[in-house]
Amino acid sequence: MPITLTREYRFEAAHHLPGHRGKCARMHGHSYRVQISVAGTVGTDGMIMDFEDVDALVDPVLGSYDHHVLNDLLPNPTCELLAVDALRRMHAAGLPVTSLTVWETERGAVTVTADVLADRDMPEAGSRP
Ligand SMILES: [Zn+2]
Repeated sequence: MPITLTREYRFEAAHHLPGHRGKCARMHGHSYRVQISVAGTVGTDGMIMDFEDVDALVDPVLGSYDHHVLNDLLPNPTCELLAVDALRRMHAAGLPVTSLTVWETERGAVTVTADVLADRDMPEAGSRP
């Protein structure tokens, strides 16, 4: 029976959005909240995947954003492109994330699914606006 495991993380980072018409063009910071889900079947150990093994693959990705200026890593670090970048990097690390949500504010979040990996129309996270 497929079951979904969800784990939540936080990190702090600064960014600005080049070309934005509003206040997001100015440098500012967020306390980002990230929820990742992995679907799978329960193994003989009774788990889809040990939470500590999930953390071992997620922490280096989110740690690379933590207390950084995201523009040093992504030219256009919107919540959407940050979520895509994080999902791609977690997959590259071997974590089969099915869904990843980035909360940028209390009221605003973006969710990407693994389908984005095959989306040829999705701009590269490194592309400029
Ligand atoms: Zn912002």
